[in-house]
Amino acid sequence: MLDFTLTPEQLALQKKARDFALKEILPVAWYYDEIHETPMHVLRKAFDAGIMNGDIPVEYGGPGGGLLDAVIVTEELAAACPGLATSIFDNSLGMEPLILSSNDALKEKYLPRIAKEFKLICFATSEPTMGSDVSGIRCLAKEEGDHWVLNGTKHWITNAGIADYMSVFATVDPESQHKGICAFIVERDWEGVSSGQKIPKLGQRASNTAALNFKDVRVPKENVLAPPGEGFVLAMKTFGRTRPAIGAFAVGAARSAMEFAIDYAKKRRAFGDPIANFQAIQFKIAEMYQKVETARLLVWKAAWEADKGMDSTLTASMAKMYSSEAAQEVLGEALQILAGYGYTKLFPVEKLLRDTRLFKIYEGTSEIQRMIVSGFALGAYEPAMPPLEDLPIQRVVDPEEMSAQEEGGKAVWRCRMCGYVHYDEEPPDECPVCFFPKTAFKKA
Ligand SMILES: Cc1cc2nc3c(=O)[nH]c(=O)nc-3n(C[C@H](O)[C@H](O)[C@H](O)COP(=O)(O)OP(=O)(O)OC[C@H]3O[C@@H](n4cnc5c(N)ncnc54)[C@H](O)[C@@H]3O)c2cc1C
Repeated sequence: MLDFTLTPEQLALQKKARDFALKEILPVAWYYDEIHETPMHVLRKAFDAGIMNGDIPVEYGGPGGGLLDAVIVTEELAAACPGLATSIFDNSLGMEPLILSSNDALKEKYLPRIAKEFKLICFATSEPTMGSDVSGIRCLAKEEGDHWVLNGTKHWITNAGIADYMSVFATVDPESQHKGICAFIVERDWEGVSSGQKIPKLGQRASNTAALNFKDVRVPKENVLAPPGEGFVLAMKTFGRTRPAIGAFAVGAARSAMEFAIDYAKKRRAFGDPIANFQAIQFKIAEMYQKVETARLLVWKAAWEADKGMDSTLTASMAKMYSSEAAQEVLGEALQILAGYGYTKLFPVEKLLRDTRLFKIYEGTSEIQRMIVSGFALGAYEPAMPPLEDLPIQRVVDPEEMSAQEEGGKAVWRCRMCGYVHYDEEPPDECPVCFFPKTAFKKA
């Protein structure tokens, strides 16, 4: 049974997130983008308002929200500023490996703290030499007595410059690929932990992005999120639960661009008419609306699957891939409708266009999502149709007459090369259409 109705609680959450986005994020979004700073007071307000950390389970002092709740909230935040939405949501990304981990004592140690105090936690798999290929991690973890010792650098880490805690993925042996990957919770003020200068970016400039460096960092064994061999799967499971939120960012940003374009199109006049009266503009708006709606449906489906305890990897990939690409298309058309004004920094679309470009890159590029989806389609997917070579397609023979021939002892032979169908006890010595030999024929 399908039901797309949001519950009264979800509608209230959506309203709360929208009010917060309009009141606390929208008025400051362009300023912090311009000066390339992350406004800590806005993050703090998001924490105080209960907009952040919605997924901390109830037993650890959180609201225990599901993924559908999270995507409803992130759509609203990203509609106001995708950069700030990224930094606010980053706590959920950083915490997800901990929530998924089987180390209950570690959950007890950190989750109540993050629920009660304003603490930021980031997520670090990427390195200067790898991003997509998580099995290529080089950050080294060495076991020494009751500690692990970390050495290496993580790159492109959202909130790296401001986070108190970090979920760090490392390896016991770079040659062993995914078999050596492990993960830890590391604290910023431990000896040997440092973060680099913030990385200057095209968009999402209100979100902090920096490198993390670990020099002989001693991590107590109790802080193991995943032992060697289990870190890779933990990272992939994390993405399965966080990629829908990236899709929701894209929906929010695209929705805003569409709304700005609709508003402009109704007011801007050309050739004596509002440009909204021109069919060329109306069709652009129809396609923008269709893309926003389709993207949201995919995002909600992925979130719903995860909330039901199903493996959401595939739908999460499709949701992220489709939404991030649809958002780019919507932004392109929105800017086209605003035309010259759209291209300026005095109107909102150029920032959204820059911010939106990142969705196709972080948490798995569009190419990686295509690998996941095509891997399934070409592998585990179970088709309803029989294989092509088993289809007796013969347009010139009446199917009933064909059945009569079969009943009369004649078999149906299909040339696997060109599709020609032959009715007889035996296949022909060679195909009369493509001249392939008898061996090309298969009984249909
Ligand atoms: C602003 C920002 C914030 C980020 N935040 C975080 C964070 O918080 N934590 C974190 O761990 N990482 C973070 N990242 C890193 C991000 O996840 C990576 O940039 C991303 O996974 C891609 O990795 P890469 O840049 O190293 O590209 P590469 O992996 O080097 O890929 C380069 C190109 O090759 C393509 N490619 C790679 N392999 C294949 C293949 N097998 N087949 C086809 N094409 C392929 C890619 O799609 C891409 O187009 C962030 C990045 C940015 C820019």
